[in-house]
Amino acid sequence: MRNILVIAFLILLFISNSVSAKVISNEKIDKQKVETASKIIAELQKDMPSYTKNGSGPFVAAVYDEKGNLIVKVANSVINENYSNNHAEMNAIKAAEEKLKTYDLAPYNLKLYVTAEPCMMCIGGIMWSGIKEVYYSVPSKSVEEITGFDEGFKPHWFKEFKKRGIVVYGNIEPELGKQQLNNYMKDGKTVYMPSR
Ligand SMILES: [Zn+2]
Repeated sequence: MRNILVIAFLILLFISNSVSAKVISNEKIDKQKVETASKIIAELQKDMPSYTKNGSGPFVAAVYDEKGNLIVKVANSVINENYSNNHAEMNAIKAAEEKLKTYDLAPYNLKLYVTAEPCMMCIGGIMWSGIKEVYYSVPSKSVEEITGFDEGFKPHWFKEFKKRGIVVYGNIEPELGKQQLNNYMKDGKTVYMPSR
């Protein structure tokens, strides 16, 4: 009996380690932050079909304050608003700044949650906004493999964000996110890109 308990404990330890090991960050991993982000991102993933049905997506972002209150939740609207810069993160930042009537979000200690790793444009947008923490699900490499979107070049962005006091966590709940992107492709939806 005791051996069985020890084995069960070791298996559980292995599972919990392998789950948290997948998450990457530019600070020491905070399990509480990962747990909160997992819940929020899973919600965003679940909401995605309602957005893509109306021509938005396939990416959704939300901004929360430090107490865990939702400030804004929006999807990518490149296609339905005919503007190539309307990525979910850019839309979320714009909506949050409009709502709070400020161009500097830093004093609010806000957190941005998004269903995929920010592209090179959104990294710039986040840097300019004063967002303090970024949590994303599917890494760019997987987004590019599944969809063919070009996420750009982002050398050492975790390190560069750290220098600017911005915390980043990535690869949170990526399986559900990948599934949503696969569905987007299966449905024959548009991969909006400049023609080359
Ligand atoms: Zn972007």
